[in-house]
Amino acid sequence: MAQRDADCLFCKIVAGEIPADIVTKDDEIVAFRDINPQAPTHVLVIPREHFPTAAAAGSADRGLMDAIARVAGEVARIDGVADDGYRLVFNTGPAAGQEVFHVHGHVLGGRSLTWPPG
Ligand code: AMP
Ligand code: ZN
Repeated sequence: MAQRDADCLFCKIVAGEIPADIVTKDDEIVAFRDINPQAPTHVLVIPREHFPTAAAAGSADRGLMDAIARVAGEVARIDGVADDGYRLVFNTGPAAGQEVFHVHGHVLGGRSLTWPPG
């Protein structure tokens, strides 16, 4: 039985209970546009199953972090930023500004993304 958190915003998006601008999805993953985009491409890539952080999803040893990285690449191709390049970010914990505790990779592209951020 897949884990779900009844109070989790992204579990509700996975279930179709809250609308989202879906870019692509498959059996394991849903990718949708961030409601407050920080770049021309800003897409969140999440597993359907609830894990609070990237570390927790990785520790489950189910290939979910691989699936997120693969779908992030698909999103970049769909948005036409794969060749120029993009950033895949996982904020983890309060000091990193994580607000939604359902693991999500931010795919950011379409503008200069040199590091450290300005
Ligand atoms: P983080 O700070 O890494 O937890 O990122 C959470 C992200 O979720 C932020 O970039 C928000 O703009 C985004 N977000 C919050 N609610 C929604 C929503 N309903 N649909 C799409 N993105 C959302
Ligand atoms: Zn969740």
